[in-house]
Amino acid sequence: MREILEDTHDGEHHFGANRMLHDLVSVLFDRKSATVKSYVRHCQVCVENQISRQKTPGKLQPIAVIPIPGHTIGIDFVVGLPVVKNSRIWATPEGGFDTLMSVSGQFDKRTIAIPGRTT
Ligand SMILES: [Zn+2]
Repeated sequence: MREILEDTHDGEHHFGANRMLHDLVSVLFDRKSATVKSYVRHCQVCVENQISRQKTPGKLQPIAVIPIPGHTIGIDFVVGLPVVKNSRIWATPEGGFDTLMSVSGQFDKRTIAIPGRTT
């Protein structure tokens, strides 16, 4: 089986699995499509010469800020902070706080910091 695959695939311009299955229809008694697809997927030459068929991503576009306070917000997380076990503002969970979530209005720049835990 391996010799047939090598002759068909490596000897003929490294065609894809569908083309190989079409070419091997007379040779293969049962359709071993999984074997053929696996062989093509792991072919070193094909893997090295694979080209990306994805569309090139464009430039990032900024989010339009609508002049209404609180309409558009940004959320950031600050993690890995020293543990705070006592808070006068927030009810402290067991183990204390070690993270901050910052919520900022994109128009008026008001920011709220909410403590939390990473786990
Ligand atoms: Zn190949």
